Amino acid sequence: MSGTVIITGAAQGIGAAIAEKLAKNGMNIAINCINEAQVESNGNQLAQKLRGYGVEAECFIADVSDFEQCRIMVDAVKERFGTIDGLVNNAGITRDGLLVRMSEEAYDSVIAVNQKSVYNMMKLVSAIMIKQRSGKIVSLSSVAGVHGNPGQFNYSASKAAIIGMTKSAAKELGSRGINVNAVAPGFIETPMTDKLTEDQKQAILSAVAMKRYGKAEEVANVVAFLMSDEASYVTGQVIEISGGLSM
Ligand code: NAD
Repeated sequence: MSGTVIITGAAQGIGAAIAEKLAKNGMNIAINCINEAQVESNGNQLAQKLRGYGVEAECFIADVSDFEQCRIMVDAVKERFGTIDGLVNNAGITRDGLLVRMSEEAYDSVIAVNQKSVYNMMKLVSAIMIKQRSGKIVSLSSVAGVHGNPGQFNYSASKAAIIGMTKSAAKELGSRGINVNAVAPGFIETPMTDKLTEDQKQAILSAVAMKRYGKAEEVANVVAFLMSDEASYVTGQVIEISGGLSM
């Protein structure tokens, strides 16, 4: 697929791997960063690397939990690149803890970043895609959203919501030539999972059929497939990328 894709939270981890894969496939990349500090620490360097693949790449600052900041970013990307052909809802956070001890603030912040952001971005970008009568949207859910996970009540809620949003949007937008899918990674080695304790990591690993953690590139490969014309008849689906954590 050619054209331009916005990837939220693209400065590091899985988002950066998706950006690199899609740039290699010839897409221009709008790298969403949360703030100026992230543009300077990671974003600019990533953009430069992506331009090395012969595509255009630029950083756009927005806290994707905020609708108005998303609106300004989407307008700026459209102005800069002319079209928006793809959206990857990747930005996400964890604020883990057992339900009985989970503060309202920890619940609300995870829902705002992981779930509300998907409403913000899908609403704004799908309006552009409807006019174009084409587009591809992929969102990052999680095995925690499909199966639940102790200590991740808020995170599981947000990732389960993404599945409902994906299926509803797929049904609304399918007749307009827009594919909407989700991926549900298992345990992928990134800055997000660095925070887990050794005991937590071992417990997860024992349940993984392939007996190893996943790499960000392995998630990026599946996202790139869903963003490609090879997946033109795939919509409303949730693909697990978990090394057989659950089946
Ligand atoms: P990460 O922490 O390395 O990257 C997350 C990115 O999102 C960061 O760049 C961060 O700055 C950005 N972000 C956070 N809040 C934001 C906001 N309000 N506005 C804009 N950007 C914001 O994590 P990762 O492991 O690369 O995760 C990427 C996605 O994959 C997340 O949605 C995560 O829930 C999902 N996921 C990860 C795993 C895993 O094992 N790593 C498993 C399943 C799902």
